[in-house]
Amino acid sequence: MTLLKSINPYTQETLAEFPHLSNDEIEQKLDAGTLAFSLWKKNDFAERSKLMNRAAQVLREQKEKYAKIISQEMGKVIKESQAEIEKCAWVCEYYAENAEEFLAPEPINLADGKKAKILHQPLGIILAVMPWNFPFWQVFRFAAPTLMAGNVGMLKHASNVPQCALAIEEVFTKAGFPEGVFQSLLINSEAATELISDQRIKAVTLTGSEKAGSAVAASAGKHIKKSLLELGGSDPFIVLQDADVQAAAETAVKARMLNFGQSCIAAKRFIIAEEIYDQFATFFMAELEKLTPGDPLDKSADFACMARPDLAEELYAQVKKSVDLGAKILFGGEKPEQDRAHFQPTVLAEIPTSSPAYSEELFGPVATFFKVKSEQEAIALANDSEFGLGASIWTKDLEKAELLAGQIESGGVFINAMVSSNPLLPFGGVKKSGYGRELSRLGILEFINSKTVYLG
Ligand code: NDP
Repeated sequence: MTLLKSINPYTQETLAEFPHLSNDEIEQKLDAGTLAFSLWKKNDFAERSKLMNRAAQVLREQKEKYAKIISQEMGKVIKESQAEIEKCAWVCEYYAENAEEFLAPEPINLADGKKAKILHQPLGIILAVMPWNFPFWQVFRFAAPTLMAGNVGMLKHASNVPQCALAIEEVFTKAGFPEGVFQSLLINSEAATELISDQRIKAVTLTGSEKAGSAVAASAGKHIKKSLLELGGSDPFIVLQDADVQAAAETAVKARMLNFGQSCIAAKRFIIAEEIYDQFATFFMAELEKLTPGDPLDKSADFACMARPDLAEELYAQVKKSVDLGAKILFGGEKPEQDRAHFQPTVLAEIPTSSPAYSEELFGPVATFFKVKSEQEAIALANDSEFGLGASIWTKDLEKAELLAGQIESGGVFINAMVSSNPLLPFGGVKKSGYGRELSRLGILEFINSKTVYLG
C-alpha cells in the first residue's frame, strides 16, 4: 500500500508516514458526516459561535506547535507560519461574530402587497480539496464560514501535508466540535474525485492548480453539484511614473517573496513605467539582497526553500526555457541542485511573449519585469493573461488609480498596496483563476440554499 509521506523539504528527511484511508474507513467518515450534519444544522448561531471562538483560542494557545508543523512539512519560514496561525484565529472569530447577521432571513415586500423572504440554509457535507502552500489558512478560510453556516466539512488535503491535515482536525476536536462536523480524510486525488459522486457530498471547493480544478469541477458538473475554484494567478504589479518608487519596490519584494513566492496572489509580473524602470529595478534588487535565507525553523530567516523538489525543478524549467527564448536574467537564475527544494530568488527582464515567463504562472521566487510607455499599455499587458486573480497599481493619483482599477480583468485590485486576503474582503478570481468568492459575506453564501418563501 502506498503511504502518504510527510517530508521536510529543507532537509529531505521523512518526518512521518500515514496509510491512505480504506474504502470502509471513507464510508464510516461519510456516515459520521451525515449524522453530524443532521444535528449540527439545528444548533443555533450562539452555540456554533461559542465553538468557533474556542477554535480560535486553541489556535492561539498552540500557535508554536502548529506553526512548527507547517514549517517542517512545507518549508515556510517560522515567522510566516506563526502569522498564518494568527490569521486562522482571526477568520474563526470573524465568522463567529458575523455569521448570524450574514445569514439572517431577508424580507422582500412585493408590489401587490404580498410578502416573501429569503432563508439561507446549509446544504450538508462540503468537500474541500486544499493545497499545501498555506496549509492552515486555506482550510480555515473554507471551514470557518462553512461550519458557521451549519454545513459540515470534509478535507482532502494535499498529499505532502498530512500532518497539517490531522492537526487541523485536532483544532476542531479540541475546541469541542461534535464528532463528524470537521473531518480530515487521508486520501489521494483519485479518491477525492470519486467522493464527489457520492450523494452524501453536496458541494466541493478546491484551491490549487488549473489541472486539479478542471478535474474536480468536471466531476462536480457531471453530478450536478456546486463547485468553487480558487486557482492560480499571474498578478500584475503596475508602477506608474508618479508612484512612490521606493515604497513600491519595498512592497513589490514582499509581494513576490512572501511564502517564497508560492502564493496564488503573489505579485508575479512587474509592469513599470519606462521613466522609473531603472530606479525601480535598482531598489527592487537592493531589497532582495537584504533577505536572509535559512532553515524554516530559524526565526531570523526570510526564506528557506520551496515545498517540494519537483516544484523547484518545474520552476527552473520555466526560467530556463524563457532564457533560451531571449529573456535576460537580472538576478539569480542558477539551476537548483537535483532533488532539492532550494531555489535562488530570480529576476527576469525583456521577456519574449512566446516564453513561459510571459504566459504561465511562476509559482515561486521569480519576478518578471516589463517596461511600458503608457498607462494604457500597462493595462493591456496586465490583461494579457489567462489568469485574473488580483492586481496592484501604484500611483499618487488615486482618482486615476480607481479608473484604471475598473479596467483590470481580475477579482481584486489593490491601490498602493500588495494584494492580500482579509476575512472582511471578498476573495476570488475571474478567467482561469477560478470562480466563486471566499471570505466576507459573499464567502459564507457560496454553500447555502438561499430559499425563497412566498407568503400568499
Ligand atoms: P495541485 O493543484 O495538484 O494540488 C492541490 C490539491 O488538489 C491537492 O490536494 C491535490 O491532491 C489535489 N488534486 C490534484 N489533482 C487532483 C485531481 N485530479 N482530483 C482531485 N484532487 C486533485 O497542486 P500541486 O501541489 O501539484 O502544485 C502544482 C501547481 O499548482 C503549483 O505550481 C501552482 O501553480 C498551483 N497551485 C496553486 C495554488 C493556489 O493557491 N491557487 C496552491 C498550490 C498549487 P494531491 O496533493 O494528493 O495531488
